[in-house]
Amino acid sequence: MAKTYSNKINKIRSFALALIFIGFVIMYGGIFFRESPVIMLIFIALGMIALLFSMVVYFWIGMLSTKAVVVNCPNCEKPTKILGRVDMCMHCREPLTLDPDLEGEEFNEDYNKKKKISAVKSD
Ligand SMILES: [Zn+2]
Repeated sequence: MAKTYSNKINKIRSFALALIFIGFVIMYGGIFFRESPVIMLIFIALGMIALLFSMVVYFWIGMLSTKAVVVNCPNCEKPTKILGRVDMCMHCREPLTLDPDLEGEEFNEDYNKKKKISAVKSD
């Protein structure tokens, strides 16, 4: 089975990076409306909102990173961060889990959402 999931922190980080690009593209789009300052201002404002939002996302990553558990990946032996019950190694995409019950199970991101399996509070 192809490993299509990626590490959550990396995923959020690339989302924040994409937002920065989107913000700049929107602001750049405002240049095409130079004749109407109102529309241009709207574009710039929207671009600024996207940039601000990406900063919020970066801040959020920082918060998440403090909660993530750092482990050494058994596959590539590099330190990686696990978020939630199952996550992937940042380097080699090896599925990792903190829950012994899920050890050896097929990797499934749904394990993070399912409430049926008694949620173990890690802190
Ligand atoms: Zn690894």
